[in-house]
Amino acid sequence: MTGPVESPAAARIAQVLLPMPLPEAFDYIEPAGVALSIGDLVAVPLGPRVVRGVVVGFRPAQGGNRALKTVIERLDEPPLPPRTLEFILWAARYAVDAPGQPLAMALRGLRAPRPKPERHLVATGKTPARPTPARQRVLAAAAQPIRRPDLARAAAVSSGVIKTLLADGALEWAPAEAAHPFEPPDVVRPGATLNPSQAAAAAALKAMVADGRFATALLDGVTGSGKTEVYLEAAAGALALDQRAQVLVLLPEIALTQAVIDRFATRFGAVPAQWHSGVAPPRRRQTWEAVASGEARIVIGARSALFLPFAHLKLIVVDEEHDGSYKQEDGFIYQARDLAVARAKIEDCAVILASATPSLETLWNAAAGRYQWLRLADRHGAARLPAISLIDLRQSPPAPGRWLSPALVAAMSETLARGEQCLLFLNRRGYAPLVLCRACGERMKAPDSDSWLVEHRYSGRLICHLTGFSMAKPDRCPACGAKDALVSIGPGVERVEEEARSLFPDARVAVFSSDTITDAAGARALIEAMAAGEFDIMVATQAAAKGHNFPGLTLVGVVDADLGLRGGDLRAAERTYQLLTQVSGRAGRRDQPGRALIQTWAPDHPVMQAIAAGDREAFTAVELAERQASGLPPFGRLAAVIVSGADPGALEAFARDLAAASPNADGVSVFGPADAPLAMVRGRQRKRFLVRADRTVDLQAFLAAWRARVRPPGSVHVAIDVDPYSFL
Ligand code: ADP
Repeated sequence: MTGPVESPAAARIAQVLLPMPLPEAFDYIEPAGVALSIGDLVAVPLGPRVVRGVVVGFRPAQGGNRALKTVIERLDEPPLPPRTLEFILWAARYAVDAPGQPLAMALRGLRAPRPKPERHLVATGKTPARPTPARQRVLAAAAQPIRRPDLARAAAVSSGVIKTLLADGALEWAPAEAAHPFEPPDVVRPGATLNPSQAAAAAALKAMVADGRFATALLDGVTGSGKTEVYLEAAAGALALDQRAQVLVLLPEIALTQAVIDRFATRFGAVPAQWHSGVAPPRRRQTWEAVASGEARIVIGARSALFLPFAHLKLIVVDEEHDGSYKQEDGFIYQARDLAVARAKIEDCAVILASATPSLETLWNAAAGRYQWLRLADRHGAARLPAISLIDLRQSPPAPGRWLSPALVAAMSETLARGEQCLLFLNRRGYAPLVLCRACGERMKAPDSDSWLVEHRYSGRLICHLTGFSMAKPDRCPACGAKDALVSIGPGVERVEEEARSLFPDARVAVFSSDTITDAAGARALIEAMAAGEFDIMVATQAAAKGHNFPGLTLVGVVDADLGLRGGDLRAAERTYQLLTQVSGRAGRRDQPGRALIQTWAPDHPVMQAIAAGDREAFTAVELAERQASGLPPFGRLAAVIVSGADPGALEAFARDLAAASPNADGVSVFGPADAPLAMVRGRQRKRFLVRADRTVDLQAFLAAWRARVRPPGSVHVAIDVDPYSFL
């Protein structure tokens, strides 16, 4: 069927959800002779275009449907499983966004064409007309199916020889096989021998998984305690439930995926499917289809893997569950850890949240008994946790223009002299976070945003980390014209690298940040080189703080522990605690004890005290008490409403109207509008409302009702961020 047709009287109307920000599904007539089902992927006309959509419901046709268009065809794709669809609709309601937004995430894998199947040549057994030595070599090499370029290479012939043999009938194309099929996991292979506390945690998780119902567990184990080994056993239990069972493992960072993939491949004798931005689009499409058909049994991926169409999901693992990168901040705004629990509930399956530094929300849920709480208190084997101490920068300040204190430099010298490795941690990319003019005081800013430009020496450019705007560093101050007056203020990793090289000229120094490492392969190469001892000093942002095992690393130096505390948002202390604990946890694995030295100007701050004392309980108790006193998450609920627009007058007027329209509701307070901390981004002004609600309030219903009361003018954009993390 190729186009819209008149509706026959008895046709049904299919409600088709389109993957775009529309408030609801559109009605189309079901084509004659085609019985559609809910979940089917269909092509429908939308204005002059043909778009893909998903059937989400039906209603009987009544008179007056003449104007409706007809579904063009059902697409040759597996339908979305009912629970996937239910999850998409749930996620939209949770985020107070259009259901087409999470649907677009779910259908993203379908954008690319399928990968071409690999074709192989094989000898037919027919003797060629003239069996020259070259031709005989080809036929010998093609006794088994072989790719054409491999055949040419193996037989050392030009492609002309192969062509002739094909024409002659002595070679033929073998039936194509799917490129890189998804191998089934071998679930009877034995796993590692677990130590007693690992074995206890694994047994509890296996029991939870075997129950086959929705349940959540927190796997709370110090860095290096073997959390991965333990959840591998839970995965084995899930896969053994039945032949179709599927397992999803979410990781916060694609640099981490390879190590976990290798461990799954070793454990189950089959390489798991991967889902992240580094996977080529045709392969992603193949993966999407294999997840929907159930062929892919294990998927390891980034947060967006949560939207895959699992046919028979039995376990979700969220590793490093505390990690801020589970929050997607633009487009469809969601927190993947929270949505993972919701998806597990919809799928009626188990979910494991794993971390050495669980989020306060998760600890609170575990303490309340909503999550099963499994602890691993010690590192596996002989490895011990690092000794953590603070360096009080007021007592031991670095020299002017330097960032490493004498105490840290001395510790580095000792470590290097023993042939061991150091990691210097600074969570700031580039060379200097700020460039200003010595003559007039001008601070270099992006032209269209309120953020300072960060100097990058590798590229010689000034870059806005918010929008990606960049410019060459000018010779003259753009404000006053003074020559050579621009000075770099403060350190970034590139500047710390410079200092480390000048202090230790013989040391091999590497920098790990998203500027030096741009893809998963580069990250893997650098991590492997560090693990193999090819560097003495690594200077790193948080890209290297997570999950990696570096056996020769015995000293971690935190250059500026106070950095994360300055933003002053809700989670600043919590994030700082987590990050410093995680990065310290890189030190001292295997049999070498490690230490972490933390440079701070505020050694009395409760975060620094808790870290130095290794007292997570005390830190958690203080933080939770503060949040409880102010009714903040997890004791209350929070949402941000961000309005933005390029026309300041229209924005101002709309923000006023929106403020006036906020519904009166018990247990809800609305604050604002205030200028967002970065009031202008990409030439658009931004204002923010904050909504705080008691836990008993249906915050989503409140937000949806509020938004429906005022229609923004075309120039104004409204975004709702439920449970906001960043206050930029
Ligand atoms: P975590 O995820 O808690 O940081 P991992 O699972 O990565 O810990 O384990 C840390 C290191 O200890 C890894 O190299 C891992 O292979 C090893 N390990 C942990 N448990 C065992 C075990 N039971 N047997 C052998 N090696 C183990």
